[in-house]
Amino acid sequence: MEYLNLFSNCQLVKGANRTLICDLQMQKSYPVSNDVAGVLHFLKDHSIEECIHVYGAENEEAIISYVNFITDKEMGFIDNRIVTGLSALDLSWDAFSDITNVIIEFNENLDYNNRFFNTLFNLNVSALEIRCYQNTDLEKLEKFINIFNGSVLNYIKLILPYSAAIDTEWLETLAKKNLRIRSFLFHSAPEDKTERIYKNTVQLTYYSKAINDCLACGLIRQAYFSTNMELFTESMQHNTCLNRKLSIDFNGLVKNCPSMQHDYGYMFETDLTDLLADNDFSKYWNIRKEDIEVCKDCEYRNVCTDCRAYTEQSHANDLGLDVSKPLKCGYNPYNNEWDEWSTNPLKQKAIQFYGMQQLVKTHEA
Ligand code: SF4
Repeated sequence: MEYLNLFSNCQLVKGANRTLICDLQMQKSYPVSNDVAGVLHFLKDHSIEECIHVYGAENEEAIISYVNFITDKEMGFIDNRIVTGLSALDLSWDAFSDITNVIIEFNENLDYNNRFFNTLFNLNVSALEIRCYQNTDLEKLEKFINIFNGSVLNYIKLILPYSAAIDTEWLETLAKKNLRIRSFLFHSAPEDKTERIYKNTVQLTYYSKAINDCLACGLIRQAYFSTNMELFTESMQHNTCLNRKLSIDFNGLVKNCPSMQHDYGYMFETDLTDLLADNDFSKYWNIRKEDIEVCKDCEYRNVCTDCRAYTEQSHANDLGLDVSKPLKCGYNPYNNEWDEWSTNPLKQKAIQFYGMQQLVKTHEA
């Protein structure tokens, strides 16, 4: 008898119509039909011969092809028994910091040297996104980035408008002086392209569309999915848009995310300890994809990010929290088709509510 042993880093996420096989070690995922997933589940407790016997000889070729697919992709192996000694994957998630991600809409006229800001970056924040929607004073920006040298921060992403004045030499020098900078995104660029600089360690993404304000955020695309242990386990317990995130918008207002309507006051007059003790600030942290309409039936729910700022505004849970599908997702997990979200008639009311009509026209152009 031969048995297919799936490695524990290979997780199956069942959706309404398809299942996503997530290889959390190789960071790859493969959509398959729910019938294929059913066979793989059966093979967890039965031999390949038993499987062929139960599903019928007419399905033997198909079953063997599923087994070969798993072994070819190195997501499992064949043995003469079910190997019980394989350690199960620990799917728990935790972070030792109350805030792990910060987004700052950089304003060169604001003084960031204040108690709130300094306390925040003493919390062991690991990732920072600095956004500039319009042209900004590059010297002031560089001075601001220098603040984080010597901090425990390990990832800085910079979003800037494209400018011919920003050349590779300037970017390389900035990255060399600030090793925490790992990626740049230039919006309003002449073309869409990606490059890597500074010994291949820093990604440059050129994006032809404008990111003029935070209304441009929240887009759900397959290209943004990531199959990794961190996101996968966090998504099983928390909200992948807002969990442990804090933002400071262009005016210095503290928010969960710059796109959220609600703010918690100016950073100059906000006490971070009080804010973190405020249940209202963390009310969305535990809304999982499994709690969100449509997403709960989607096979991509553990590799997709979420958006709680712009939603279809169709459902709320018992606590009055918005559990509607992200507005800017055009995926339908019931037929596995991607459509243009902005032209969906059912989304027009929410598009108007957020005042996105102009953005949608630009998006379609
Ligand atoms: S329905 Fe859209 S937003 Fe929801 S999990 Fe699927 S791809 Fe992501």
